Amino acid sequence: MTNERLRQLPSVDRVLRHEGVRSLEREVPRTLLVRAAREILDEVRRAAREPDGGPPDLEDLVTRVARRAAELRRPRLRRVINATGIVVHTNLGRSLLSSRAAEAVAEAARHYVTLEYDLASGARSSRQAAVRELLAEIAGAEDALVVNNNAAAVLLALNSLSEGSEAVISRGELVEIGGSFRMPDVMAKSGARMVEVGTTNRTRIADFERALGPATGLLVKVHRSNFAIRGFTEEVPVAELAALGRPRGIPVLFDLGSGSLVDLSRARVPHETTPREALAQGAAVVTFSGDKLLGGPQAGILAGTREVIARIARNPLLRALRPDKLTLAALEATLTHYRDEGEGVYETVPTLAMICAGEEPLKERARELSRRLRAELEASASVEVVSGESEAGGGALPDVPLPTALVAVGVPGASAEALAAALRAGEVGVVARVRDDRVLFDLRTLSEADERELPALVAGAAAAARS
Ligand SMILES: *Cc1c(COP(=O)(O)O)cnc(C)c1O
Repeated sequence: MTNERLRQLPSVDRVLRHEGVRSLEREVPRTLLVRAAREILDEVRRAAREPDGGPPDLEDLVTRVARRAAELRRPRLRRVINATGIVVHTNLGRSLLSSRAAEAVAEAARHYVTLEYDLASGARSSRQAAVRELLAEIAGAEDALVVNNNAAAVLLALNSLSEGSEAVISRGELVEIGGSFRMPDVMAKSGARMVEVGTTNRTRIADFERALGPATGLLVKVHRSNFAIRGFTEEVPVAELAALGRPRGIPVLFDLGSGSLVDLSRARVPHETTPREALAQGAAVVTFSGDKLLGGPQAGILAGTREVIARIARNPLLRALRPDKLTLAALEATLTHYRDEGEGVYETVPTLAMICAGEEPLKERARELSRRLRAELEASASVEVVSGESEAGGGALPDVPLPTALVAVGVPGASAEALAAALRAGEVGVVARVRDDRVLFDLRTLSEADERELPALVAGAAAAARS
C-alpha cells in the first residue's frame, strides 16, 4: 500500500459514523467501539508498511471493527480447555475445585454466611475456626491459619517469628518460585536477617549449629519445589533441625510449597513430606499452598503448634493477608473431602484424580477422542494416539514425569503453530502443546466435557488455520 492509499484511510470518526458500526451502539458501549476503531486503523496503518499490505476498504474495516468490539466485550478471564497435561498450571488457574467446593463458593457468593458469626451464641467468631478444626484432624496440627497464598504465609511466618532476629537457612534451599518469589527477597521484606549456611549441594546439621547465636530467632527449611539436586548432595532433615532448636527455644519453619496432604505413591511419584509428617518430626509451623497438590482454592495455610500459631495470629499483617469468604468456603469444602472420604479423595479432588490417572485409562480415552476427531476432521488430517509425559506443574514434583497418552493432530495446509494459534483464538480457547509439527492433546488434563467439545473446536480451528 502506498502513502497515497494510506492517506485515503478513513478517520476514526468516519468509521464510527458508518451504519454498520452505528447499529452496534445499542449493545456495545461507545467507548469500546472507539477503541476497536482505533485499534483496527492502527493495525491497517502498520500493515501498510509491509510490501503486500492490502488496500483499506471501508466495508472491510467496519467488519473488522465490529469483530474487535465483540472481542473486547468478552470477559478477559474466561474458560479454556487445558490440553497441556500440566495439572497445576499456574497460568491457567492451578487447581480445579471439586463440585462440592464449587457449590460452596456459589452458596457463599449469593448468600450471607457465618463468616465471623457464631449462630449458637449470636456473637462474633473467627473466620479461621472451620479450617483450624479441619487441619487439626487432617494434619494433626494443634492450630492453623489461612491467608491469601503461600507466599503470604511464608512472609507472615518470617515476620512474626524472626523480625529483627536471625533466620538460618541452607544455601541449597534459597529457591526462586515463579512470579519473582525469591526466598532471600522475602526474608529481607519480612525484616528477618538471613543467615545462609552450608553449600548449594550439601548442608549438614553442623553448619546450622555453628551459625547459632544469641540473635538466632528461627531455623528455616524450604521445599525445593521446582528443581532437583542430584549427585553429591546432603540436606538436613526437619527432625534434626527441630532437635537442634528445641533446647534453645528456637522454632523451625518448614515451607512445604505444594504440601500434599496425602501420599501420592499410587501415581508412582516419590514420597513427599506431608504437613502431618513435618509437624510430627518437630516443625513448629509448616506453610503450604491451597491450590497446588491440595487441590483447593488459592490460599496459604500455616499449621503448627498452638504457641507459634498464636504468635503469628497476633501479627497485624494477618489482617492485610486474610482470605475472603469465597476462598474459605472452597477450602473448607475441599478439606472436608480429605476428612471424610479416605481413598475417595483420589477421585473427588480433581487435581489428585488427574495426577493419579493411570496410563491405560488415559490411552483408552485417547483412542475414543481420536475416533471423534477423525469423524469431525477431513480425511487428509492425521490423527494418532501417542505416548508421552505430563507434569504435575505448579512447582510440584519437578523431575517426576507422569506417563500419559496424547492425541497428535496435523492438518495439511496449516502448520502446527498456526493450528495451535487458531485453537487458542477459538470460541473456547484450547491450550495445547506442539511437537514435530503436530498439535498434541494430553488426555490427563481434559474433562469428559472437554473431550466432547474438542473435535468441533479442532475442526473449526483447522478451517481457520488453512484460510
Ligand atoms: C509455590 C511455592 C510458594 C508460593 O506459593 P503460592 O501459593 O504460589 O503463593 C512458596 N514456597 C514454595 C516452596 C512453593 O513451592
